[in-house]
Amino acid sequence: MPTLADILYEFSVWHEIGGSPFKPRAYALAAESVTALGSDVKDTWRTGGVKALVALPGIGRSIAEKIDEYFRTGHIKEYDMMKKRFPVDITGLTRIEGLGPKHLAELYRRLGITDLAMLKRGLTRHEIRSLPGWGVKSEERLAKNLALMERSSGRHLLSEILPMADDIVAILSKIPGVRRCVYAGSLRRRQETVGDIDLIATTDTPARVMDAFVALPLVEAVHEKGKTRSSVRLRNGIDADLRVVPDEVFGATLQYFTGDKRHNVLLRERALSKRLTLNEYGLFRLAKKKMGERLACATEEDIYARLDMETPPPEIRGGGDEIEAAWTKTLPHLLPYGSVKGDLQVQTDWTDGSASIGDMVTAAKAAGLSYLAVTDHTKALAFIHGLDDVQVKKQGRAIDALNRKLRGFRVLKGTECDILRDGGLDLKDSTLASLDWVGVSVHSLFNLPRKAQTARVVKAIANPNVDCLFHPTCRIIGKREGLDLDMDEVIAAAKKHRVALEIDAYPDRSDLRDIHVRAAVQAGVKLAIDTDAHTPDHFRFIPFGEAIARRGWATTADVVNTKSAKDLLAYLDKKRKRRVS
Ligand SMILES: [Zn+2]
Repeated sequence: MPTLADILYEFSVWHEIGGSPFKPRAYALAAESVTALGSDVKDTWRTGGVKALVALPGIGRSIAEKIDEYFRTGHIKEYDMMKKRFPVDITGLTRIEGLGPKHLAELYRRLGITDLAMLKRGLTRHEIRSLPGWGVKSEERLAKNLALMERSSGRHLLSEILPMADDIVAILSKIPGVRRCVYAGSLRRRQETVGDIDLIATTDTPARVMDAFVALPLVEAVHEKGKTRSSVRLRNGIDADLRVVPDEVFGATLQYFTGDKRHNVLLRERALSKRLTLNEYGLFRLAKKKMGERLACATEEDIYARLDMETPPPEIRGGGDEIEAAWTKTLPHLLPYGSVKGDLQVQTDWTDGSASIGDMVTAAKAAGLSYLAVTDHTKALAFIHGLDDVQVKKQGRAIDALNRKLRGFRVLKGTECDILRDGGLDLKDSTLASLDWVGVSVHSLFNLPRKAQTARVVKAIANPNVDCLFHPTCRIIGKREGLDLDMDEVIAAAKKHRVALEIDAYPDRSDLRDIHVRAAVQAGVKLAIDTDAHTPDHFRFIPFGEAIARRGWATTADVVNTKSAKDLLAYLDKKRKRRVS
């Protein structure tokens, strides 16, 4: 049985195929909202029925009635009917970038393709290139995107797994006798995608902890249950392992399972040079090539201190120069979580966001922020009714009026101005100059060759009105490789024109990536950490952006929106002496 979110998404696709102008977006937003709310949706329905569902973000009356039917009967009649008429694995196939609803309909009607296996057969037989509107190039691109999707499956987005791991840790930590319970691995290093969950606990009651672990409601199957290690598969398909270790070696186990592998190899070399040996059970003296006495390793700090090193934050343990920096005691003071004070990329219901500016302000406040920039799309994105110069001015007046009423919160006038094919911008310079914050970004022609794409982006950020390049590479994890850009050239241009590069924290974007952040920081280019919020719930993505900044060795000073609104505006004013108010 598909999940409620899958069903709503399929409705969106069906309406798209049917040519409905508004329903596809309404259903897509509802699907996203249901995903974000998780089990809260059912709780809301239980206490307040249809009426309470309508009060949830992104859910209108007719969708609320379908959700009600789903919870009451376990089915939605209209869904079952549609499924018979169009028996296509929409959820599976739309994981491939570039396969939109209209394509699915075409592939089904002309070639009878209903799932991934049939699509693959169609590709190997080269049946797809001969469809009207396709061709060799588009068939090749589809094959490439399919391969990319398959390569990345089995890994999960950090944003999906982290809340789950936090829940598990919270549940296990409450069991009497448990002293410590944490997760390690790629999750602790905050990699953008995670392959599995490694948990480590110390406890006086190991049997009880293992019983509780395998009985968690999230668990779908138990691979193995033992006294010191158990392994399960969770409902979303990810594996989780729990190890119970003695208190006195907790630091060694945590260090070992945090990794990454290269970091640990270099650390073991360092230990050997001090006639010590390091493994998951501890740090030991080497005596005649045999393991001797175990040294203190209850904490990671014990181990690194014994190796005469600072303890590198998990986010930068990648087996590169963090080892040298820890050794020479020159590790950077990474930007702490909670440093971002305002969100500089927010979409509202003026374009493709789900909520009004006022509702986004309320949500941003609740998330602990003190300002946001409204950055709706511009007219080049006609299908979401992007704003033109007149509408941007009108929105500015609405923001002025709102700011007069707000206390302790500031709304900045901004834009996510489209970068056109030739690197020109989608709004007049005079409009851009009237805004507090100008972000620019690419939303079309993702496949231009490297030289042309780089020139396009560099030209856009050379416009003196531009403050920030949003989601610079445009990659979508598991779906789109991203623009073929010469990042060195983009970073150099950002430096020259004093344009910030965005870390877009929207989970499947995570764009810039850590390596680009590192290069930007080294070049002295400023960063902005934004959520790209399209619903009030999206402000929760900020810590994921902060994690990418940390992985790229960024400090507070590198990120412009760690400043207060007042300081940020003063900084921008100084940067471009052209602001008209
Ligand atoms: Zn965008």
